[in-house]
Amino acid sequence: MKIFIATKNQKKLKELERILIPMGFDVLSQKDFNKNFPEPIENGTTFEENAIIKAKDGLNNTGLISVADDSGICVDYLDGAPGIYSARYSGEHGDDESNNQKLLRELKGVPLEKRTARYVAAIACVFPDGRYFTVRGECEGKINFEPIGDGGFGYDPYFISELGPMGLLTPQQKDSISHRGKALSLFKEELKKYIDINEEK
Ligand code: IMP
Repeated sequence: MKIFIATKNQKKLKELERILIPMGFDVLSQKDFNKNFPEPIENGTTFEENAIIKAKDGLNNTGLISVADDSGICVDYLDGAPGIYSARYSGEHGDDESNNQKLLRELKGVPLEKRTARYVAAIACVFPDGRYFTVRGECEGKINFEPIGDGGFGYDPYFISELGPMGLLTPQQKDSISHRGKALSLFKEELKKYIDINEEK
């Protein structure tokens, strides 16, 4: 059975392929189509809404069962910001470095115990018959004052997880506690309820 992954992010594509291929899916992404898909307008107010917008866009473009994710970091002291705006926190073309510098400025003078935060990832799956579902994973931590390690991406250099600084974790360690890792295992279980799967053991 064919399934379309609506992302241009190669890391996300790989993570989803690692789960969907052993489940017997023929995984397709934009590069398998001979046309340019316009970027969907992510105007949802939650991670779930944005994931659904992206997945529905994938379904409209391909006619296939489509999967998409949306993720970010929510800082308690900042009332949940940057949240769904995490990728463009420091501006429309915000990059990891400038996003992190803005976060540090917003948290200036705030002690570590008040710098609690969580990563959130929502994954949506939509079916051609109109059914859809979403799953969510979260990963609790704190925002450090200095960067530590060079693993991961985005806000990871400043994120202190339950296993220690995210920037020092191996990919396997990160997967075991991360928002995306948790969302992906829930996703796998949920998807099994919707379709018959002959999973390779
Ligand atoms: P999007 O899901 O591609 O819209 O990305 C959301 C943004 O959240 C990314 O640009 C990162 O800045 C941040 N983010 C999401 N997941 C992670 C993670 O696992 N580590 C660090 N930053 C993340």
